[in-house]
Amino acid sequence: MDASELYDPEFRKLIKSKKQTVIIPVGSLEQHGAHLPITTDSDIVTEIASRLGKKCGFIVFPTISYGVSQEHDPFFNVSLEGNTLWNIIGDIDRSVVKNKLKSVIILNGHHGNALSLKLAERKTILQRPARMRKIRFYSYWHFMKHEFDHAGFVETSMMLAISDKVKMKRAKKGLITKGLSEKEIQRINKLSTQQGGFPKVAKNGVWGDPTGATKKDGKKFLAEIVRNLAKECQS
Ligand SMILES: [Zn+2]
Repeated sequence: MDASELYDPEFRKLIKSKKQTVIIPVGSLEQHGAHLPITTDSDIVTEIASRLGKKCGFIVFPTISYGVSQEHDPFFNVSLEGNTLWNIIGDIDRSVVKNKLKSVIILNGHHGNALSLKLAERKTILQRPARMRKIRFYSYWHFMKHEFDHAGFVETSMMLAISDKVKMKRAKKGLITKGLSEKEIQRINKLSTQQGGFPKVAKNGVWGDPTGATKKDGKKFLAEIVRNLAKECQS
């Protein structure tokens, strides 16, 4: 259930009635080429969280729509520092515990957030009472088979499935790693996560090829991710 559908009396009853799990989605505000909105990561992770919440009966909190995106400098990004992000998660989790919500899933929608959120998961586990150490952190793209990208085939297809804001006529092929040596791919991966490194490896801000993206593929990806995440969350 999305938090926007909950009112205080019902919410408090809901907390009391059974063990509730809360999803905290985390996105970003950053360039996604010329064809996708800068809110893309937040849009996708919000949709996945909402579907997962419905499927599993979890409560979905509003998305944290800013992330750690300095790797995109000088392309557009509005970023948090890594420690700010993990402090935000820590603060939210303290409140969650105070409200007697035992279990939390931090759902990540942006690669650059992963390190901070992993640390946030560890920190928040330790700040909780021993009987309430139920925190899990997932990056959603680990729950799909297809190789992930940035504003490429995967993200563009998923956006076509959930948004009418995609400008397909402006979609351009970006960095393609297929055919490169393992060593070169490793070098590119490393550089792309450093401050200002992304535009150095993906000149037009796109990693992958969005030109063949379809709504149908996007729907398939979303269904696959939600199905696999649900399995993981219920195990
Ligand atoms: Zn993205």
